[in-house]
Amino acid sequence: MQLFNGLDSIVKKDAPVGKYTWYGLGGNAEYLIRPDNHEQLAEVAQICTENSIPIHVLGLGSNVLISDAGVKGAVIKLDSAAFSDVSYKGDRVLAGSGASLNEVVLNCVREGLSGLECVTGIPGSVGGAVRMNAGGKFGDIGTSIVSLKLMDDLGSIYVKSKPDIEFDYRSSNITEPFILEAEFKLFKSDPDRVMKATQEIWIYKKNIQPVTGRTAGCVFKNPSVDTAGSLIDRAGLKGLKAGTAQVSEKHGNFIIADKDTKSSDIIELIEIIQQKVQQEFDVELELEIEIWT
Ligand SMILES: Cc1cc2nc3c(=O)[nH]c(=O)nc-3n(C[C@H](O)[C@H](O)[C@H](O)COP(=O)(O)OP(=O)(O)OC[C@H]3O[C@@H](n4cnc5c(N)ncnc54)[C@H](O)[C@@H]3O)c2cc1C
Repeated sequence: MQLFNGLDSIVKKDAPVGKYTWYGLGGNAEYLIRPDNHEQLAEVAQICTENSIPIHVLGLGSNVLISDAGVKGAVIKLDSAAFSDVSYKGDRVLAGSGASLNEVVLNCVREGLSGLECVTGIPGSVGGAVRMNAGGKFGDIGTSIVSLKLMDDLGSIYVKSKPDIEFDYRSSNITEPFILEAEFKLFKSDPDRVMKATQEIWIYKKNIQPVTGRTAGCVFKNPSVDTAGSLIDRAGLKGLKAGTAQVSEKHGNFIIADKDTKSSDIIELIEIIQQKVQQEFDVELELEIEIWT
């Protein structure tokens, strides 16, 4: 492993990565890299940048589909303890990007901290949720963020705070490849009240989304005219299959993988949906999930 000399223990060449995603599909990554600490990540970032190796940072893989042919470049997974620590102090939470968002939400309930109920049931990491400003009907994660610790593509670490960080619908203005840590400002509240709000949001989500299926959440962003799910429903596409992949009967914006599903089946459904919705409503559906090639 000449390129990543001295980093053999954290770099795997031609390694399967689909198993780290919710879809569980797709081929191998040219490199799968799981740094143990910030210094190793900085070294990896420099090597990738100097050698023009594309960088893909993987969280919990709940918004990503890996193509059947695999991923060119480095898939970097920040899941070691150095990236996953979370601390709670007063109304502030400092969360490592590799931490599970669901665990942070549950701990906030126990601590009587309100503000993150809106991301209940979103099965990603803190870093993944921050990158795309995860959220929904009840709010989004960006609202509670005060500052972020980021690493650039040459391994330099710095902190950015609002108003320099901006969040919009399922997007942010973060250009650095690595989110290392997020600082949240929440509100002290009654734990029972926070628990009740969290439960209500979870029940709402479970009632309308196929939360236990193999999916990557909503496939498309909502256009301005209507929700993507409603357009897909109105186009008569719920239940449509390609191979063993299927548009969810419960929520039209989810595509569910089954036994023997290939990434190409999901991509075929995506293309059919985009064409049909364009024909019927003159609306171009933009992907919310990422397809890594
Ligand atoms: C059942 C289900 C329900 C869902 N419901 C919702 C919902 O209600 N609302 C919603 O917004 N989403 C939802 N999602 C989608 C998904 O859970 C969110 O987008 C989540 O925030 C993705 O986090 P992740 O860690 O899995 O990111 P990944 O899927 O691993 O990556 C997503 C993006 O974030 C980047 N990224 C990940 N970690 C980092 C990091 N540390 N630094 C820099 N970039 C990083 C990746 O490079 C990629 O661009 C749902 C998904 C599923 C499967």
